[in-house]
Amino acid sequence: MGEFELIERYFAAVGAARGDVVLGVGDDAAVLSVPAGHELIACADTLVAGQHFPAGFEAADVGWRSLAVNLSDLAAMGATPAWALLALTLPSIDEEWLEGFVTGFAALANAHAVALVGGDTTRGPLCMTVQALGSVPTGTALRRRGAQAGDLIYVTGWPGDAAAGLALLEGRLAGSGANRGALEAKFRRPEPRVAFGTRLRGVASACIDVSDGLAADLGHLAAASGVGAIIRAEELPLSRALYALAGEARAREFALGGGDDYELLFTVPPAARTALARLTAATGAPACHCIGEVVAGRGVRLVAKSGELPVPRGWDHFRA
Ligand code: ADP
Ligand code: MG
Repeated sequence: MGEFELIERYFAAVGAARGDVVLGVGDDAAVLSVPAGHELIACADTLVAGQHFPAGFEAADVGWRSLAVNLSDLAAMGATPAWALLALTLPSIDEEWLEGFVTGFAALANAHAVALVGGDTTRGPLCMTVQALGSVPTGTALRRRGAQAGDLIYVTGWPGDAAAGLALLEGRLAGSGANRGALEAKFRRPEPRVAFGTRLRGVASACIDVSDGLAADLGHLAAASGVGAIIRAEELPLSRALYALAGEARAREFALGGGDDYELLFTVPPAARTALARLTAATGAPACHCIGEVVAGRGVRLVAKSGELPVPRGWDHFRA
């Protein structure tokens, strides 16, 4: 099978059929129609085999993850996703792997009405870059910048589960049964908080998605906003599965330093608490917990009732 046959067979009709795709896969570039009164929101993320997922990771999970990490970035901006591009580098044409990859990618694309509109296919070490595109009504995108002293800090879901799932897959954490399954699933198939992100427009003062680790990403939000942040150790949501397999101290480390959560971390002015309560009470809304507050100053502090604790460090590809 040649490159063009491969593209035609696997990538020509992936994801939702959308009326705003004037021209999709098959020409030199896609033609997309951005709705009037909206801004285009664009992001890209690369997954490198062995670096972002362990060797032997199921192809369908790789496909899902490659789109999920991008939809999570759009969610953090409050954007509604619409289109994706896929630059895929393959060591060889492995039809079984390709079939699995596309199945996982398409499952998430369809769930969020995203159309695959183009990309690139090359030979080399296994690696993929997905670009996701979406839109927001002009001027309404959420940003990392905007948090103010006195705002409350919230996180969706159960941070640390995905990092513990990866630790289980890599043999750094022991466990079995339903707890193991639940944590591994969080790493294999993160659920980007797309709908919730769009509802946070006009409610959150700042927002980021958690990919490097909760503490590190809160640090990015705080730095962008020119403020400091306090995390209340006892308020950190720890899932039962994480608590059961890791114990409290290590669970907290996974939650704060682990990464790969793809949850939303955001700040809310005290006056917008009622608006947030309405959002979190809606059916389908993710679990959402207040974990601390924004303060004047710089940096992230972890404070327990017993006193101040060291903050676990997050992920940085280039740190020595
Ligand atoms: P060009 O040489 O003009 O860059 P290509 O031959 O690389 O075009 O691609 C042909 C068409 O297939 C283009 O529309 C491109 O966007 C699309 N395409 C290539 N690879 C992929 C892929 N992995 N996923 C989706 N679309 C792809
Ligand atoms: Mg061309």
